[in-house]
Amino acid sequence: MDGAVTGSCRCGAVKLTITAPQPLAHYCCHCRDCQKTTGTAFAEQVVVLARHLAIDGETAEFAMARPSGGTTTHRICPTCHTRVASTNSARQGIVIVRGGALDNADLDAPLAHMWAKHKRGWVTFAEDAPVFDGAPDQAAFAALLMPRLFAGG
Ligand SMILES: [Zn+2]
Ligand SMILES: [Zn+2]
Repeated sequence: MDGAVTGSCRCGAVKLTITAPQPLAHYCCHCRDCQKTTGTAFAEQVVVLARHLAIDGETAEFAMARPSGGTTTHRICPTCHTRVASTNSARQGIVIVRGGALDNADLDAPLAHMWAKHKRGWVTFAEDAPVFDGAPDQAAFAALLMPRLFAGG
């Protein structure tokens, strides 16, 4: 797909523009935090380089320490409270947006499933999908995502 991927919060006050090459890199996170914040079984986490993401509109921030390391900072629409982006101090230079916030992304199968030990019983994974019980270490995380993040330069 050519052109930018666009997205927004629910109310539309905050807009996202992603200029990364497609298909975008994404994984599914089945951790309890993602379950709590999305109110559903897992989060579709789209990973982009910070330089490939523009956020337009005022956002509020919410930071919390993660059991897997680092501090996550969530950027939230102050009106509708949708989380539009997050960063982790342990993973500099990348930003995570959620697949459901995107309007025209051409997402393919997730590159991995993380925190599978908390997945719902009904969720099954493709046989060739990398599955991690918790969060992969930095090297494994990079090995999974970097080829896709830097595809096309
Ligand atoms: Zn909003
Ligand atoms: Zn999670």
